[in-house]
Amino acid sequence: MDLTNKIAIVTGAASGIGLAIAKRYAAAGAKVAIADLMLEAAEAAAAGINADHPGAAMAVAMNVTDEDQVNAGVAAVVAAWGSVDILVSNAGIQIVNPIEAFAFADWKKMLAIHLDGAFLTTKAVIPHMYKQGSGAILYMGSVHSKEASPLKSAYVTAKHGLLGLCRTVAKEASPKGVRTNVICPGFVRTPLVDKQIPEQAKELGISEDEVVKKVMLGQTVDGEFTTVEDIAELALFFAAFPSNALTGQSLVASHGWSMG
Ligand code: NAD
Repeated sequence: MDLTNKIAIVTGAASGIGLAIAKRYAAAGAKVAIADLMLEAAEAAAAGINADHPGAAMAVAMNVTDEDQVNAGVAAVVAAWGSVDILVSNAGIQIVNPIEAFAFADWKKMLAIHLDGAFLTTKAVIPHMYKQGSGAILYMGSVHSKEASPLKSAYVTAKHGLLGLCRTVAKEASPKGVRTNVICPGFVRTPLVDKQIPEQAKELGISEDEVVKKVMLGQTVDGEFTTVEDIAELALFFAAFPSNALTGQSLVASHGWSMG
């Protein structure tokens, strides 16, 4: 699948899944903006990609919950490269806590990063996509877009919410050539997951090994983590897919944890 001459913005691409997607897109011929809260890490990620694919990456400082920063970041990409063909709304965090101890501020922060971020970035890129009559928008959902787990009230709510946003934008935008889909990974070993292992062990009163084997991978078919490369391959497939046949969909990649 080829992305030659395509311009992509990937949020949260300084680390983990977003970084792997940015690398995969650059290898497929795209130019990729690494949009992240952590500018230094985004610059390092862009430098790494440019070393392999000269001129393929730029870093953009962006807090996805801040409308002005989102608009300025998208404008900077359009100024540099002319348009936007692909948005991957991927930036995210995780906060685990039982609901009675879940701070309201943490609830709002989670919904803001996952949902406001998806809304604001979509709103900023879509006029450019409409102008050219084409585009692909991907939201980073989760198995938690389909299933619930204890301690994750805000995350599960936000990830379910992305399905609604995706389907609505699909209905509005597909007639104008813009497709929207959601990728739903199972557990992928990134800093976001590494942070949760000791937190969940403490909350659930079990060992870290049990968190990994029972809580995270217990319902997979083979006890394996999904990898950043697995998710990058799916992100390439969705971005390069040639028609509106594939819009408003969500696809789970989780070693069989969720089959819904
Ligand atoms: P990660 O922690 O490795 O990377 C997240 C990136 O998002 C970081 O670079 C961080 O700086 C950035 N970020 C955080 N808040 C931001 C903000 N407000 N504005 C801009 N950037 C911000 O995490 P990851 O595991 O790669 O997660 C990426 C996405 O994948 C998230 O949406 C997450 O919910 C989703 N996801 C992860 C897993 C998993 O197991 N790792 C599973 C399913 C879904």
